[in-house]
Amino acid sequence: MLVEGAVLDADGPRPAYVRFAGSKVLEVGRLGTDSTRGRLRRVRGIVIPAPVNGHTHLGDAVSVREPPAGPVEQLVGAPQSYKFRLLAGTPAPAKRSAIRRAVRRMGREGVAAFLDFREEGVAGVRLLRRAIDGLPVRGFVFGRPLQRPVESRELATLLEVADGVGLSSGREEPEAVRRAIVRACRARHKRFALHASEAVREAPEVYLDPRPDLLVHLARATPDDLAAVRDDGVAVAVCPRSNALFGRQPDLGAMERLGLRVLLGTDNAMLHAPSIWAELQFAYAASRLVGRPVSAAFLARAALVEPWRWLGLPAAARVAPGSPVPPLVLRLPPEDPAYQVATRATEQVIVRPRPAPRRSRA
Ligand SMILES: [Zn+2]
Repeated sequence: MLVEGAVLDADGPRPAYVRFAGSKVLEVGRLGTDSTRGRLRRVRGIVIPAPVNGHTHLGDAVSVREPPAGPVEQLVGAPQSYKFRLLAGTPAPAKRSAIRRAVRRMGREGVAAFLDFREEGVAGVRLLRRAIDGLPVRGFVFGRPLQRPVESRELATLLEVADGVGLSSGREEPEAVRRAIVRACRARHKRFALHASEAVREAPEVYLDPRPDLLVHLARATPDDLAAVRDDGVAVAVCPRSNALFGRQPDLGAMERLGLRVLLGTDNAMLHAPSIWAELQFAYAASRLVGRPVSAAFLARAALVEPWRWLGLPAAARVAPGSPVPPLVLRLPPEDPAYQVATRATEQVIVRPRPAPRRSRA
């Protein structure tokens, strides 16, 4: 297949052609210089790194009814909320199949990886790993130790099976707990992430000390708080649709202006489908609704580039031969790739490589 149009990746947007063999990139070149002859499938479109869903709670996919109205803590706060009662009352096989369905859906939408905050301790992490076994979407799982004070054996086991720890929030966990968890994460080269300033503003000290690898939300953070996050070099995962359901929005305009490293996530799977395209479109529109507009380029980076950098896989954020993750081809006008990706991309515009012709067995 030969895609003529544009590439949008870690190096920004540019007119280009990309020659593929199956899903593999063979060559990227300047538009108009391609010398390929003969019968080749030609597509006009945009080639992008496969997106990453930067924040999910896929266990919540067990919920299929409209959740009750109320503040976010009553809905998803540990340990007595609607969500935790639902998780506790759902048998493991039902949880596994709900998670598997959600991840398959993400795969159909072209998502190649997700960062999940998994509840229910060691067992919860194991359950998710088993649920997605064999699927072509990579799950990075942040578990939560259940014992308080932190029990070192439980934490060690958790860090054997998880990619890191994802805490509910800094203000719900005493400093000693956070420090013990960070120490264990550092010792095992695992990541430490937590929700911050979601329903109420928290002082940056609460979530920046000890220093996390990733913060989630910052919907109530002030521009000064965001500057402190930037100065500490901490990345942020934002979830605009989830925040909107509780009457707030992250200040994406300020995050862009201040130069924060931002990932885009779809948050609790009980609130809406884990669709990165829906999240992009909502984020773009909502930033204008609240009068703090963000650029399409910044949002596209949050879905396609920053998460791969955060995961330590920067090569996956580039469309080039040898890319460790196959890029996506979108049948969209290539003149303004970031705008197209942020406002018009859906599962329907993905061009799939045709399967190789079957060889007859002679
Ligand atoms: Zn979350």
